[in-house]
Amino acid sequence: MKTGSEEKTGRIFNFSAGPAVLPLEVLEQARDEMINHHASGMSVMEMSHRSPEFEAIAARAEAGVRKQLNASADYEILFLQGGASHQFAMVPMNLALANKPIDLINTGVWTQKAWDEAAKLAVVNIAATTEPEKFRRLPRPDEIKLNPNASYVHLCSNNTIAGTEWSDFPETGSIPLVADMSSNILSRPVDVSRFGLIFAGAQKNIGPSGVTLVVIRKDLIERASKNLPVILQYRTHAKEKSLYNTPPTYGIYMVALVMEWMERQGGLAAVEKKNIEKARLLYDAIDSLGFYYSPVEKKDRSRMNVVFRIQGDKEDLEKKFVNEAAAEGLSGLKGHRLVGGLRASIYNAQPLEGVKALVDFMKEFSRKNG
Ligand code: PMP
Repeated sequence: MKTGSEEKTGRIFNFSAGPAVLPLEVLEQARDEMINHHASGMSVMEMSHRSPEFEAIAARAEAGVRKQLNASADYEILFLQGGASHQFAMVPMNLALANKPIDLINTGVWTQKAWDEAAKLAVVNIAATTEPEKFRRLPRPDEIKLNPNASYVHLCSNNTIAGTEWSDFPETGSIPLVADMSSNILSRPVDVSRFGLIFAGAQKNIGPSGVTLVVIRKDLIERASKNLPVILQYRTHAKEKSLYNTPPTYGIYMVALVMEWMERQGGLAAVEKKNIEKARLLYDAIDSLGFYYSPVEKKDRSRMNVVFRIQGDKEDLEKKFVNEAAAEGLSGLKGHRLVGGLRASIYNAQPLEGVKALVDFMKEFSRKNG
């Protein structure tokens, strides 16, 4: 079931929601360059972040992200730390305007966390929420009530836990749209020009944990008060090209390699095509075997985090599924502790063979236990 090189490395198929599978090619390249990077005589981990060698690596990462995202020169690409959670605080600190509300579309835990932080700084207007339906769908356009006076609108483009994903975004006019794209960044094309700010922890689609990507429209950088702690202002990181303090150098190097891998795959369009194929295979199995079901409304199903259950919500059987799958080299299939059930995260680096192996396992498991 495994590919030739995975056979040799003893790697399994990893369906973890994050940190998640990275492309084997990237890991092999990092291994080959580990001890002596490009004849520098040292590992990237050992290089000064002020050295020309590292500056070249950071420039590769930035150029790679900019190219794959198709972000114009109107946007600054920043590599920060603190994870996406740090952005829950940093975004309102920098973008909330005095006496104006923040609009937030509540689609699950990750927007609730952003809400908690935003509420410390401004009135939060819940423009829409699907909490009464346990976040099993996204709000319909007619349910979203935006406040024309808002500082910005916050949403999460892919809910990693509920397994919902936006395929189109609300029109916010001149009000900046802020998106937490942690779990679907660079899995499908998005029109960056519709956003004021995009942020994502790297550990799902773009690299290892420790790097946080922020893509911010340049005019918004100047919104924040200069009285904020310097390290918490986007302007500091923009001015210093993400080198205000020691950045997560090795993680940034890995982002560069992942972006170059994406380019070799044929870029974002080709990666999206594969993602569509993988998601279709898996949802087809869930819908057709008569043993599993997806709790998520069809139009809102995530291509990245496929949440499913065994019919009747049989928890013992789900536990058995997770354990037997793991024994077959299919790991990380337990649903998030808040919702239970099963979840297969099939990010960009998840090979098609991984999804096929999972579908084969699901068929076999349903036959034996149905
Ligand atoms: N937002 C989303 C959509 C996530 O999936 C996660 C992590 N799973 C976070 C935010 C939090 O990210 P971090 O752990 O990098 O702070």
